[in-house]
Amino acid sequence: MAIRLFGMDVDGVLTDGGIYYGGPAAELKRFDAQDGMGVTLLRMAGIVPFIITARGSAAVERRADELGIDEVHQNVKDKIGCLMGILDRRGAGLDETAYVGDDLSDLCVMVKVGLPIAVANAREEVKRVARHVTAASGGRGGVREACEYVLREAGLLDDLAARFLEGEARAWEK
Ligand SMILES: [Mg+2]
Repeated sequence: MAIRLFGMDVDGVLTDGGIYYGGPAAELKRFDAQDGMGVTLLRMAGIVPFIITARGSAAVERRADELGIDEVHQNVKDKIGCLMGILDRRGAGLDETAYVGDDLSDLCVMVKVGLPIAVANAREEVKRVARHVTAASGGRGGVREACEYVLREAGLLDDLAARFLEGEARAWEK
């Protein structure tokens, strides 16, 4: 079944898990630029990226906006309910969904989707339910690798990369 939705956790997946407190309200996170290009490649392929996280920060909102991720769900208590809502809106099935996680709180989603992916730094319990484990860690290229895995499996990766040779892909970059 072709993947149409690609979900990501934030802390430990889109970041290295570090959370920097910088004053009363400021929370800083370090994202990876090459992960960002991976999300762009997904969008070019028509795959919808989404974020589900139990925490909430303005940094995530800003990064998601930069990457053109419309489905950003923060402060989520019921991850399954959130996931099913996204699938409903997008008219996609669980078997058409990939999800990248790193910790126990991702397990409930990962056991439901068709393609659960764990980053290299994921806890063992998470790796056990994953169908693919990346060599790179969260915040250090793990998401890029997961994006490329999905696109390679679909036979789309080489054609997408080639579009950058012509500069055609510029419009997708933000
Ligand atoms: Mg996490």
